[in-house]
Order: sequence, then C-alpha cells, then structure tokens
Amino acid sequence: MSRSAHPAGPRHADVLSEGHYAAPPADLNALDQKVWAQTVGRDADGVVTVGGVDVKRLAEEFGTPAYILDEADFRARARAWRTAFGAGADVFYAGKAFLSRAVVRWLHEEGLNLDVCSGGELATALLAGMPAERIAFHGNNKSTEEITRAVEAGVGRIVLDSFQEIVRVAHVARSLGKRQKVQIRITVGVEAHTHEFIATAHEDQKFGIPLAGGQAAEAVRRALQLDGLELIGIHSHIGSQIFDMSGFEVAAHRVVGLLKDIRDEHGVELPEIDLGGGLGIAYTGDDDPREPHEIAKALTEIVTRECEGARLRTPRISVEPGRAIVGPTAFTLYEVGTVKPLEGLRTYVSVDGGMSDNIRTALYDAEYSVALVSRTSDAQPMLARVVGKHCESGDIVVKDAFLPADLAPGDLIAVPATGAYCRSMASNYNHALRPPVVAVHDGEARVIVRRETEEDLLRLDVG
Ligand SMILES: *Cc1c(COP(=O)(O)O)cnc(C)c1O
Repeated sequence: MSRSAHPAGPRHADVLSEGHYAAPPADLNALDQKVWAQTVGRDADGVVTVGGVDVKRLAEEFGTPAYILDEADFRARARAWRTAFGAGADVFYAGKAFLSRAVVRWLHEEGLNLDVCSGGELATALLAGMPAERIAFHGNNKSTEEITRAVEAGVGRIVLDSFQEIVRVAHVARSLGKRQKVQIRITVGVEAHTHEFIATAHEDQKFGIPLAGGQAAEAVRRALQLDGLELIGIHSHIGSQIFDMSGFEVAAHRVVGLLKDIRDEHGVELPEIDLGGGLGIAYTGDDDPREPHEIAKALTEIVTRECEGARLRTPRISVEPGRAIVGPTAFTLYEVGTVKPLEGLRTYVSVDGGMSDNIRTALYDAEYSVALVSRTSDAQPMLARVVGKHCESGDIVVKDAFLPADLAPGDLIAVPATGAYCRSMASNYNHALRPPVVAVHDGEARVIVRRETEEDLLRLDVG
C-alpha cells in the first residue's frame, strides 16, 4: 500500500494488486504494445528500435541510463486528446509529469494548453513560447513572487487553492491594475486511484477547499466580491492512475451542484468546469486504460446530463492529463552491471541508475515491467528484481519481473512507461547525475534535456 503522499494529493497510491508475474510470460522477447511507445519494435537482429533508431546506437551515442522518448507517440497522444475533446473543450497538459522546452513546443503545435505549478515550470513554458493565456497556474502554496510573475505574464487562469490565496491573488492583480481569471479548486469528497474510488472523508488533504460545510460556497462568495478577480469556474482533481470513470461521475455531480447553488445565490452561471487529470496508463500488461475518445465522451455526457438536471447551461469543460499523454511515450534504457542469483529467492539485476531516475517504485510501490532490449534470448525465464546502484535497499526499479536466465553484465534492459513522473521527480541522491531525455523521431535522435555533468553538480557547491 501507499506509504507516502503523491504530488496530486495524499493517498494517491499508484498501487496495483499483488500477484503480478505469478507466471512467466509465454514469450520473453515479445514487447507488449500496451506498455511500449507506438514505434517500438525489434529489428532483424532482435535489437529493439524506437522511432527507427536502435537502442545499441542510443546507448553508444548518449550513454546509459537515459530516458528515450518517442516524439511521434507523444504528438499522437496529445493530438488524440485534443481531437477527442474538440473545439468546445480545453486540454491542459499537466507539466509536472514531464516538462521541457521541446515538449512545450510540441504541445503548442498540437493545440494543447499547459498546467504549471511553480515558478520554474512557468519560466520553462514562457521561454518555450507557450502563449500565457494558454497556461494555468496551480499549486497549494504559490508564493507572492510566483503569483506576481503569473499575473504579469498574463496567464489564462490561476487555480485558487485556499482562502488566503483568494486574497493574495486579488491583491497582486489589483496592485498591477489587472483583473485575473481564476478558478477555485474544491475537494468534492471523492478520492480515486487505480481501479476504485472512495466517496467519503477524503477532504483530509492539503489541496483545495472542501465542498463540505459550505466552505467552497464561502470561497466563491469571497472571490466574487474582489474586483481583482474574475471567477470563471470550479476545479476538481480527484486522484491519479484512474481507470474507473465513476469517481468523475460523482465529482461532476457535486461540482455541478455547486454551480447550481452559485446560480441560485448570486445569479451567475460560471462558464467553466475543470475535472482535472489522473487518467491511468498501462505500466504492465494487466492494466487496461481507456482511450481519450472514450474518456471525452463519458465526461462530456456526465457534465451535460448533470447540467440539464440542474437547468444550467453546460459549461466549457477542461481536463488536465499528464501521465496519460507522456507516460507511455518513454522508456528508461539501462545497462546491466551485476547479476546476483540468490538461491531459492530470485536474481538481483543491478543497473546503472535506480531510485534517482525512478522514485515511483520506492515511493508508491508502483509496478513496472522490463525487457532485455539489446538482443533476444531463448534462455529460460528467471524471476528477477531490477535494482539501482544507490546505497539503499529500497532502491528498486522493478520489483518482480521475469528476464532471460542468460542475462549478463553489458546487456541493455529497458523499463517502459517511464515518461511521466520519472525525469520530473529525479534526484541527485548519492550525487547521481540525472539522465538525459533523448527524443527519437523518423530515424533521428536528439537530446532534449542533456545529462547532468559533475560540473553541473559541483557548480552549486560553493565550498
Ligand atoms: C497531477 C495533476 C494533474 C495530472 O495528473 P496525471 O495523473 O498526470 O494525469 C492534473 N491536474 C492537477 C491539478 C494535478 O495536480
């Protein structure tokens, strides 16, 4: 179970059930299309290729570990979300999943908007040319400096997360002679993760203003009174790695209920509703994520139905997928360093990265799969655990996996579905140098985030 908080809120454990990999897969060389980026396959020699580039060449040219990102897949997924929601809705990519200037440009070109939640993310977005009005600014404790930069830049919306922030943003906007578009993030008492949702008592978290006890209604009252603010809608984000739409159904019902109360009390119909992100992806072959068009259809129907019931004009919907766009587009390429069989237990396979490039396994007990990618093998499957090189026994990348028994130092293995919350959560633990992100496309590979050097590391240490 989850032991720690997720950036999206507490208890958002990306936890799958026990008992995966109870039996080895029929073919260890097969690459399950569910978990690998679209252009991944094996060439005639059995070497894995992505975007027309083979992993041996990638390892030689860029070193390991490295995140290898399939640009065509990223663009296709971004476009699929955009198309699914159409002109009547907005798709905000959640930058915290993975953000770089190249990614911002792709999003811009594909017609998506962008969520940021810190001054650093805002700076990246603006530097890469995302129009400010297409940026939403999130966070439960934005500093006055961050708020000032966001208002000055002219961001399309700031998502207000507390009573103090309502006043803070209004004050900043007024002092800059502006009126800032805002949404209020509420907690609807629904918490969703993986395959289930829980509909009680999940207001016990740091994000948002509880709907319960009339707090959200009070926040709306205050926001409507302040002339530095233009309240455009209500925001709700219920969790992460969600497969089941019923949590969204309850959330939409409660958000629309609030819109109705606002109409009845203030005579205003807020024009927008944001249902957040959190849509799940396949980390292993057991996960069955929904396609964007199914999600769009379901969400649109839910909101339309709820609004008809409440006799409200259907507001413009926005969603904020992060993981569902970038997660499946990348894999982490590692070189095997040591292979240590433990009699009667399993074989520990140590790679040249670990919890510094993928903290999710240690943080959430997240499950991943892994494959030998520099060659195929006809050897028997062996039960393995892929671990990193850090001074920590919890430094596990893939907890349970089958790899061929002839695996040896120097082999390249890859962990798919590491596009989201891996590079963005990477650390310098043990003074590790954070790996590069290499984008591949049509036979070409280019670094979009370069590998850290010891010089980068030591530059901060002023002695
Ligand atoms: C984290 C977050 C998202 C994105 O979540 P994913 O699971 O990556 O889709 C969207 N909106 C908000 C407010 C978030 O905090």
